[in-house]
Amino acid sequence: MTTLTRPHDQHLLVGGDFVPGEGPAYPVLNPATGETIVDLPEASAEQVARAAGAAASAFDAWSRVVPRDRALMLLRLADAVDAHAEELARLEADNCGKPFHLALADEIPAVSDCFRFFAGAVRAQHGAAAGEYLEGFTSMVRRDAVGVVASIAPWNYPLMMAAWKLAPALAAGNTVVLKPSEQTPLSTLRLARLVADIFPAGVVNVVTGVGETVGAALISRPEVRMVSLTGDVATGRKVLEAASASLKRTHLELGGKAPVIVLDDADVDAVVDGLRSFGFYNAGQDCTAACRVYAAPRVHDELVEKLAEAARSIRVGAQDDEGVEMGPLITERQRGRVASFVERARALPHVEIAAGGRAGAGGGFFYEPTVVVGARQDDEIVRREVFGPVVSVTRVRDADEALAWANDSEYGLASSVWTRDVSLGMRLAARLRYGCTWVNTHFMLASEMPHGGLKQSGYGKDLSVYALEDYTVARHVMVRHA
Ligand code: NAD
Repeated sequence: MTTLTRPHDQHLLVGGDFVPGEGPAYPVLNPATGETIVDLPEASAEQVARAAGAAASAFDAWSRVVPRDRALMLLRLADAVDAHAEELARLEADNCGKPFHLALADEIPAVSDCFRFFAGAVRAQHGAAAGEYLEGFTSMVRRDAVGVVASIAPWNYPLMMAAWKLAPALAAGNTVVLKPSEQTPLSTLRLARLVADIFPAGVVNVVTGVGETVGAALISRPEVRMVSLTGDVATGRKVLEAASASLKRTHLELGGKAPVIVLDDADVDAVVDGLRSFGFYNAGQDCTAACRVYAAPRVHDELVEKLAEAARSIRVGAQDDEGVEMGPLITERQRGRVASFVERARALPHVEIAAGGRAGAGGGFFYEPTVVVGARQDDEIVRREVFGPVVSVTRVRDADEALAWANDSEYGLASSVWTRDVSLGMRLAARLRYGCTWVNTHFMLASEMPHGGLKQSGYGKDLSVYALEDYTVARHVMVRHA
């Protein structure tokens, strides 16, 4: 059953005050039904300016709060997230179409863990030793906050992306203006309430609205010193252009097209299990989704047959349907985009759609789990990010060809290798040009480990101590001895 957000959770958080947006309203949908949950007024340009101003005013005091006290607030926020787990998972499920039980079991614990990790990490930073590198002078390195960070999040994991952006930025002593995706603002607006009970006014501000207007207004504010975006490659380019005018720092987590190399000695059942989960989780709307399989000759046919069967067995449905494993896509537009990728692949004489390939019935934006077989390295379905429940399988001659084709991509976020020969897996991992390589698994994240891309998947790391580095600047302080 869908329960709606309380009216006050539609308000922006600006300088410690909850205020209704003064810009035009836009509908926020439930993707499983296509119905409008709420018409949400977005922030006006003036409200965006006020939020950036509030973050700038709060910065000096917040950056001087000692790490222990910042950490205590992050820990309280983690506890508050856990205490409101059901409510937050409900909002996330309703607004994104996710199965409720998965939002609750997978995403909310990852959100609170992220806040807890950075609470600990900021108290244990280390770096170059202070010393007399010139005679008569003592040098030391400081790691200081950057200033006001504009954080812009996507729609696929709204709350988790909010946590990935807020936790390292706040731990490091920055203040933040966070803009969730216009499609999925509801859980972030609820989180804003929890944040406001814990952090001083102005340290975290939340504005909602469309990227081209509210997002663009935010990143061009002079108070903003750093822009952190998770989104599309095209949006990354726009953010870079806008940031270049005032040389703002940027932190970009963009798209992906993860290769999955399956070698002749792989455990095919384990691969199929993995692809069933990691190719179709969140309806494939995941930048690390296991979507581009390269299968060696001895396993190819068995893999295709078992994967097609596994894809057909995935239970697609609405948030609370019995045993549901996969929900709808986020919008009708996204479904249309996914369908058109599959139609163009289907039209190729060498391609077979081994499972799925059709939209679901009803008002929601459902699309069947789909397996595309026979696509070639140069085909669009192999090269471009589909961001939907579509996995392609391409036959390769051997490990060398698989490696070459895996690396032949403009993306560089995530990859995996499946083989019983872990030593071979390690050798391939060393040569894959991806921010992450898994061996005999895929998709698994740990707060302690960096997540981020190479090439057009962007740069900058989320999670781990490397994110703390990204949200700080190294500074040199030198003292001349008398
Ligand atoms: P998107 O780029 O359309 O939107 C992302 C955010 O940017 C939204 O909040 C949007 O309002 C904002 N935005 C859009 N145009 C803007 C502009 N001109 N100025 C400022 N802000 C602007 O992406 P999406 O459709 O929400 O998310 C899907 C994309 O995100 C996929 O390509 C996916 O691969 C990527 N993604 C990457 C990661 C990662 O960690 N690398 C994680 C999740 C999603």
